Amino acid sequence: MGALEYINCPLCDSQKNTKLFLGKDYLYSKEEFSVVKCHDCGLQYTNPCVKEDQIASYYYSGYSSRMNSKLPNFYKGEWGRLQRFFGNIHFTILELMRSINARKVLEIGPGNGRLLYFLKAQGYDVSGVELDSDLARNIWDMGIPCYCGNLDTVMDEIGGKKFDLIILCQTFEHLYDPKKTLKNIHSLLAEKGYLYMALPNSGSIEAKLFDKFWRGLDLPRHIVHYDKKTVGKILRKSGFDVLRQGDLIFPSSFVESIGFRYFQDAKMPPTLYYFLYYFLKLTGPVCRKLFGSGVMTVLAAKRQL
Ligand SMILES: [Zn+2]
Repeated sequence: MGALEYINCPLCDSQKNTKLFLGKDYLYSKEEFSVVKCHDCGLQYTNPCVKEDQIASYYYSGYSSRMNSKLPNFYKGEWGRLQRFFGNIHFTILELMRSINARKVLEIGPGNGRLLYFLKAQGYDVSGVELDSDLARNIWDMGIPCYCGNLDTVMDEIGGKKFDLIILCQTFEHLYDPKKTLKNIHSLLAEKGYLYMALPNSGSIEAKLFDKFWRGLDLPRHIVHYDKKTVGKILRKSGFDVLRQGDLIFPSSFVESIGFRYFQDAKMPPTLYYFLYYFLKLTGPVCRKLFGSGVMTVLAAKRQL
């Protein structure tokens, strides 16, 4: 479907790597792609990968579903308290915003804009950068400024604006030139600015358990497969101090991995999917303590010079 190219390690630029396994795009193209590990820094990445100017053809419609912007009062009252207890990322970020006293937030790759909509309702000054023009327009329709493009191409448009917090949820692993993006993020952050990311953890028990069937690989859309060590390395190299790393309760990653492992190209029966999903959601807080999770979170601060 798309032309492939060999790339150097996105972290240390080395050409030396070892092939780990051949994984498959179960969600869309059914094509197979190699995951390699860098000899010099240990980073795992997709190599060869689909050329950057052709990767859009692997983002099928519905990859990031549109949200109904008229959802009123979501996460209010008891439902909100329940979501908070089960580790909903919206609340994790809200608590973070309060603890660092942030007002201005930028999300890169907001997808359907749900998080920005939630933070805007809490009174924060929010904006986004979204590659998909339909999704970006949808976010504008919610009354939220959203620059359309990748971060590198919209830097001029953003101008001299500075942010207290920049968020990347399930976005960083899609980037072809993560160091360049981190450089731009660094320049967009206020002096005491923070970066928060949530992304698949290739060093997790979940990733090791499912190996080439792991949902977090999302080949060929994920270019880099970070773990806690390598994400820390690239952040420190790019002028950030890593303050905190954690695990996010994210049952769908585990359940879809079971689907890839045992049903492969066939779809898992929806009843089984929802049974497993809610079982893992309910046991999530305990599972996270015992086994960690397939999705990690990272909080980093702009290094003071
Ligand atoms: Zn490397």
